[in-house]
Amino acid sequence: MARRSFIAGNWKMNKTPDEARALALELRAKLEGFKNCDVAVCPPYVSLAPCVTALRGTNIAVGGQNLFWEKAGAYTGEVSGPMLAAAGCEYVIIGHSERRQYFGETDQTVNRRLQAALNCNLKPILCVGETKDERQRNVTEEIVRRQMDGALAGFKPEALATLTIAYEPVWAIGTGLTASPAQAQAVHAFIRGLLKAKFGASAAEQLRIQYGGSVKADNARELLSQTDIDGALVGGASLVAKDFDAIVRAAK
Ligand code: PEP
Repeated sequence: MARRSFIAGNWKMNKTPDEARALALELRAKLEGFKNCDVAVCPPYVSLAPCVTALRGTNIAVGGQNLFWEKAGAYTGEVSGPMLAAAGCEYVIIGHSERRQYFGETDQTVNRRLQAALNCNLKPILCVGETKDERQRNVTEEIVRRQMDGALAGFKPEALATLTIAYEPVWAIGTGLTASPAQAQAVHAFIRGLLKAKFGASAAEQLRIQYGGSVKADNARELLSQTDIDGALVGGASLVAKDFDAIVRAAK
């Protein structure tokens, strides 16, 4: 089945609110009228409002980079799903490897965040992927299976309707190393197989799986042409409007 491509930019901890607004406006100008795939940008929390305003009425959606699973309360420093939704977010990234690596995110906390996102109608982008050591030890599939099982524990097939998975090999994130199209396709097909076994063929065929890890203007087309690669989660290159624009235009 034909899945609509989805390119998302993860701006990470970059850009002040003014800089973020300027980048959003640049993207707005470049992608005016572009409708060939879904596009989103995920700025830091403090830049959500200026980006939502700058991108209103366009085909570029806005997403958060994380959320906390409680709705409100004494959780200093956290931001909840309803807050992101009220700020104008359509998407939210969950379980990014930097959160797993530096902020103690586990498969169980990813599961809770995912549930919280779905409860307030945010569309989650769930990140999974192996480290360099895990790839070298040949346990990529085992790791991805554990992450997927943990994140999706207790979910019904309907929950997959708005979910995107981002396969991001940790060794390729921000390193300039990219999984080869064949390496990435193999893991994407594996992930789709897992989804099929767990949730049925129809849910698995509809769900989009993005690739992430040093996607650039010059490698995007080949990666995105693979059967099970339905888009990209882009870090570094999403901070430069012309590069992100080129990646968006390389989508199927
Ligand atoms: C990411 O962190 O989601 C990512 C893919 O980063 P980069 O494109 O910079 O490797």
